[in-house]
Amino acid sequence: MFVNYPVDAALDNNFVHESIYEAIALIFDNLNRGAVVPDWPLILPERHRAKLSSRRKLRDLLVELKNIAAQQTEARRSAVLAFINTQNSIDELLSGAIVPPAVTDDERPFIDCLQRVFIEGFSLLTKTKSRDTHYKAIYDSLTNKTCPFCGYEPFEAPGLKREDEDHYLLKDIYVTSAANLFNLVPMGGKCNKSYKLQQDIIVKNNAGRKALNPYGNVKAEICLSRTPVITLLDEKPDWIISISPDIEETRTWNEVFSVEKRLKETVLSSNYQQVLGEIGGYLASLDLNKNSTNAEILVGLRKYEALKRDYPPQGLGFLTDKVAKMINHYFEAENPLVLALIKDGLPVAQEEQVA
Ligand SMILES: [Zn+2]
Repeated sequence: MFVNYPVDAALDNNFVHESIYEAIALIFDNLNRGAVVPDWPLILPERHRAKLSSRRKLRDLLVELKNIAAQQTEARRSAVLAFINTQNSIDELLSGAIVPPAVTDDERPFIDCLQRVFIEGFSLLTKTKSRDTHYKAIYDSLTNKTCPFCGYEPFEAPGLKREDEDHYLLKDIYVTSAANLFNLVPMGGKCNKSYKLQQDIIVKNNAGRKALNPYGNVKAEICLSRTPVITLLDEKPDWIISISPDIEETRTWNEVFSVEKRLKETVLSSNYQQVLGEIGGYLASLDLNKNSTNAEILVGLRKYEALKRDYPPQGLGFLTDKVAKMINHYFEAENPLVLALIKDGLPVAQEEQVA
């Protein structure tokens, strides 16, 4: 992805998941000690109690879970708590530091109830509006109000129709991370419904794979300078996209979201003639013309690249600075094709026009 989400957006709004997790831990701990399990809402952590004490469905589901847990051994309850911990170690799962836990005989008596508890938690994210504050914090953090997974899908402003909230780790498999905001990722509808779909981001063909953490600090950069210069004269150049850092995490992102293919077709090719035209217009506005020296033109090209880097267009134009950088790279090397391409777009000199 091109931009990471702020950790605080998840951390500051995660009270539903925290409350459910701590209530389960409290129930298990009391059962293990032979103590009486506190009644609702005292099983909720005090700091979040007022926000959830009216949620009766959650109350009933936790009673159901307590009754199941009471019939099981302490060892089994401990195994279930460890299972929940592992499924919610999102960063470690994504980085491959730990492997996804399989459901064993220990979890089997609990899993159906756990699934309903955490799905109810997920629905409470909307009802308690924590999903809205989570989204607003993310939206506000974005310089470009677009989906960071493709870079170009527009995000609606908070308060309008919600963007998809993707379960980054699938809720049908990673059932106990269904309400954890660290596993919930605002995502453009195309990325979510047409590309990611039901792909398991950390497992493919039964083998583990690493994936970028949306709330982490690794993001992708792209470079176009390996695009063959001969094809720059075509309407659609033969774009070569290099993604850095070239690590398993960015390769998974590219694969799951078909990044290269979409950027080539939808973003780069559709904008190429527009960028060339704009470069010509920009250089002309600097009073450069066909008689200007290569060195003078290169100064103008660099200014254009800096402008697009510092003030990137939103949406489909978001890679304009990368296209400019590639052109500048070839222009600086005095590639005759690119020299001609750029000079073609420049106006004739004033004296020539008069003559
Ligand atoms: Zn997208």
